[in-house]
Parts: sequence; structure tokens; C-alpha cells
Amino acid sequence: MLRPALSIVIPCYNEAACLDQLHARVSAAARSAVGEDYEIVLINDGSKDASWPAMQRLSASDRHLVAVNLSRNHGHQLALTAGLDLCSGEQILIIDADLQDPPELLVDMRETMAREGADVVYAVRRKRQGETLFKKATAAAFYRVLDSVTDTPIPLDTGDFRLMTRRALDALQAMPEQARFIRGMVAWVGFRQVPFPYDRAERFAGETNYPLAKMLRLAIDAVTGFSTAPLRWASHLGIALTFVSLLLVVYIAVGFFTGSAVQGWTSTMLITVVLGAAQMFVLGMIGEYLGRLYIESKRRPLYLVADIAGRAGGEARLGYVAPQPQDATVREAAE
Ligand code: UDP
Ligand code: MG
Repeated sequence: MLRPALSIVIPCYNEAACLDQLHARVSAAARSAVGEDYEIVLINDGSKDASWPAMQRLSASDRHLVAVNLSRNHGHQLALTAGLDLCSGEQILIIDADLQDPPELLVDMRETMAREGADVVYAVRRKRQGETLFKKATAAAFYRVLDSVTDTPIPLDTGDFRLMTRRALDALQAMPEQARFIRGMVAWVGFRQVPFPYDRAERFAGETNYPLAKMLRLAIDAVTGFSTAPLRWASHLGIALTFVSLLLVVYIAVGFFTGSAVQGWTSTMLITVVLGAAQMFVLGMIGEYLGRLYIESKRRPLYLVADIAGRAGGEARLGYVAPQPQDATVREAAE
């Protein structure tokens, strides 16, 4: 198979207002990097707006563009996975649809990749414009907590905006897990990875699709996906509490034998409440891992593709593709 020099993979959820500008800027950046030898892969992650019709329109007018319509909203990381499965370039750029990550940096990122002999050039956010203090603070805290619990060194303040070589992508795609924290998985792959500092722009249009609930979910996926440290904390907590309870046993025994053992509502309540909370917390934590084990064990496809628009080829690499209208006509013709 003839591979394009560059694939640009863009997951989109309710980004209709950004698509034209995105297409123009990404195409221009790709042209100045590799001439005509590129493809753009757009993934519509079950948008509720007119993103899909807009993608169909764009793919009809630009042979560089292929668009995939997922069967519903599967979430950013799985939409991205679908695009990464479909794309076939020698180099792969992952970028957000909202133009917060300037496509124009592509040329410099390729330059860094060539100069450093790197397999991954990941963009590190120096500044984040137009994002709430809350978002910045939670994001900053998240990357630091994650760093402290994981064994894989996951770069701080790094989103999915990055340039990868084919061999790094192939290694990434060999990982079958459902709960995908792609920036961490890429770090896990290894090879030579170099940072690329940049200033994150404001959204071109629309608003963030990462409300607190989704952020939390990504954070829990990240921690549980890359570390069993919380399970270790559970046993540490257990050991510490055992020690405390041994001391209490002595204290209680002394009270019993000296006959001073009647009052003590406060201490009883304290112990009940604290131990109850600690047990629930640990149970919940174990439950997180157990639930993930359960979900992984079902081995469902990561995403379902409803439609594909634009250049054909590569569908076989997608997890599941619903039969397309042209398949039906081919079948009719054969009958
Ligand atoms: N996105 C997606 N599916 C979702 C949520 C987001 O494909 O369920 C895409 C979105 O279109 C964008 C990228 O993921 O291209 C990052 O989302 P967003 O800009 O909302 O996140 P933020 O930059 O605010 O963290
Ligand atoms: Mg954004």
C-alpha cells in the first residue's frame, strides 16, 4: 500500500462552526509541510450539530479528506482511536478540531522530529488562553497527581496534540484496552520522545466538550490505566489501621481491667465513622479496578462506525463498520 507522507487525525464533537476554518488551516499547514502527499481524517463523534453533513460536504470537495461517522458519541479518546486506525500516513499528527492547537506548528514539529531523530514530538502547553481558571487549575493538579502515582513518566501539561512516526503509532494501536488514555499510552510506548513547547490558543468557536464529569472520567482512566498505586495505598491504609487498632486493643483491655470502661461515646463514634469511611473509600477504589476488569473482559469493539465519506481504503483496519450503501448496490449487482 502506498502511504501518504502525513496523516492528520482530528476527532470532532459538535464542531460544525470550526470545520471550514479547520479544513483551510490544516490543509495549508499540510501543504507547506509535504506538498500534496497528505490525508486528513475527520471523525464525527456522534455530534448533535451539523458536523457530519459539513464533513460530507468537505470530503466531496477535497480528495485529501476522509471522514468517519461513529454510530454515537464514544468519547474523545475512542474517536481518536478510530481515526488512528483508519489513517495510513508515514507521520501522524493528532490535533483538536477547535483550533486551540495551531496547525501551523506542524512544520516546526516535523523539523524537530527530523533534527532529534524522534518518534514522537509532543506539544507541551506553556500557556492556555481563554480557558477558565478552574480548568487550568484542575488540569495542572491532575497532571501532577498522575505523575506521582504512575510508573510510566507521562509528560506534564501535554494533551493529545503530537506528531508521531508510523512505528510509534503501530505500537500504540497494538494496545487493545477499552479505557484509553492515549497521551499516557504513547508515553508508555517509548522510543525517542521530545517535547515541543507551545501556547494554547482559545477555541475558534463553540465551547469545551470536556465538562467536569468527562474530565474526572479521563483522570480516573488515566490513574487506573497506568498505576495500581491506589490498590497499594489500600493495603498501606489497612496496615496503618491494624497498627492503630492494636494500640486500641491494649487501651480497651486496660480500661476493662481497671473498671473505667463506661463513657466513650465520642471515641466509639469517631472510630465507627472514620473506619466506615475508610472502608467505603477502599471498596470504591477496588471497585474501580474490578469494573474496568469486567469491561475489558467483554472485549467489545472500541467504537462502531456508521458511515465513511471520502477516499476509500483502510476500512478494514477499523474496529467495526456498518455495511455501507455502496456495499448494498455491489451486492445487488452480484445477485
Ligand atoms: N471531542 C470528541 N468527543 C467528545 C468530546 C470532545 O471527539 O466526546 C473532541 C473535540 O471535538 C475536540 C477535542 O476532542 O476536537 C477536545 O475537546 P475540547 O476542545 O472540548 O476539550 P478542551 O480543549 O476544552 O479540553
Ligand atoms: Mg479544546
